[in-house]
Order: sequence, then structure tokens, then C-alpha cells
Amino acid sequence: MTHTPRPLVEAILAVLPELAPHARDAVIFHPERAEPDCRTSSIGGPLLWPSDEPWPECSLPDVNSPDGAPATAMVPVAQIFCRDAPGPWWPAGTDLLQILWCPNEHWDPPVQQADISPVLEVRWRQVADVINELTTPPPPSRYEEDGYLPQACGITAERVTDFPFREELPAELLLRLEDLVRQTGGGGDAITRLAGWELGGWPTWHLTHPTVFACGDCGTAMTLLFTVASETRQGSSSAGGETCASSPAPPITVTPSR
Ligand SMILES: [Zn+2]
Repeated sequence: MTHTPRPLVEAILAVLPELAPHARDAVIFHPERAEPDCRTSSIGGPLLWPSDEPWPECSLPDVNSPDGAPATAMVPVAQIFCRDAPGPWWPAGTDLLQILWCPNEHWDPPVQQADISPVLEVRWRQVADVINELTTPPPPSRYEEDGYLPQACGITAERVTDFPFREELPAELLLRLEDLVRQTGGGGDAITRLAGWELGGWPTWHLTHPTVFACGDCGTAMTLLFTVASETRQGSSSAGGETCASSPAPPITVTPSR
């Protein structure tokens, strides 16, 4: 299904063939308000969670509780089944990705996460491992009223080919890129700055400068795993999470406003 207003990849590469080696697979998720269940991919919906696994809590200081007490339950951000978004981002032996966060703003979060952000938990699972499902996850005891409680949505997945943000491209490409953006973007850059929730692809550094995040375990440059967006239109704010492909338990870093 195609939702993203954008020229065909072939048309982009006809004008900018130098982009071909930088092409990355990605899946964009188009959310729609729904009542998803824990066996479907969703944003802000119920997670397929083993009943014998503790639900993630956060006891870090946040703007609503300077001492972080009492610990508050995290909330589901996204759940993606591999069948809906197959691609190179799945670690071997996993077919379910779950992202949760503490729905509070943290001024001094753990080292791998950006300042002034929710605190993130990521779970990779094998669906077959979940024998007994948790039916009633604990609600958060405190949260930011505005912005960190995703509303339950079903998602439609759209496969795309993503290209690096313009500041990561050689300068000699930029004039031709700008011409193409002007002709096709409807006012926004749909070539190197796709909007919305995304798995894989390239980060868009529209509020910061391009940065390489090194894995805290092995030093390898990490790649973008997913992008959380506040809205699906271009220019909306978003946050990206990165992982390391070499580390056995992929660590993650989060940077806001990308
Ligand atoms: Zn917290």
C-alpha cells in the first residue's frame, strides 16, 4: 500500500543515481485509531507479554517526581510483528519487537538515552515463547499529560526505500536534490526526509546535526532501528532509537527531535 507522496524510487535514482549505494530498506507505519489486540501490530496498543515476566517500571527522577518514587509502570509505544515488517533489522530468532517508555520527561536519563526524553525499554521476542499472556498490565502512576501516552492505533505498513538526510550527502548532489524536492515534494522533502513512524531507514537530522552513535559495548557505529513520530505529516517532531548489529543484546540510544 502506498501512502507516502513521493516519486518512485526509479524516478529518484534517474535524477540522482549517486544515491543508489545509500538506499536503505524501511517500513513506514500509518496509524489509525483502533482497538488492537495483543496479537496484532499496533501503536500504543496492548503488548503480547509473558505473564511471568515483570512489567518494566521506571524509578528514575523525572519532572513529576524529582526522586523517581514511587516507581511508575512504563506504557506501550509500539508492537511490531515480523510478518508485518520483515527486514534486516530483526535479530536472529526473533519475530516480535516491543517498545515501551516511561511517559515522563527525564532531565538526567541513563547514559545511552538523550536528555529531556522518556526512558525507553525495547524487547525482542519470539512469539512462540509467550505461553501465558499478561492480561492486565499495570497503569502508569504518573505521566506527562501532553505527548507521552500514545493512543491505541492499528497500523498499515508501507515498504519504502529510504535515503540519507541531505546533510549526510555529498555537497555536489544537493542542487539536483533540491530541484527534485521542489518539483515533487508538495512543499516538503519526501526524498531524504520521510515523515512518520518508521522501522529501519535513515535518521532525519532536521533539528540537529548528523551524529554517529557508538555502541557502548563494542564501539561499533549504530544504525537507526525506529522512529517515533508525533504526527504523520512532514515537519512534525520525532525521536529515533538506534541499535548495534554486532552486540548480542542490542543496546539502544535515543535522540529526540530528529
Ligand atoms: Zn521515568
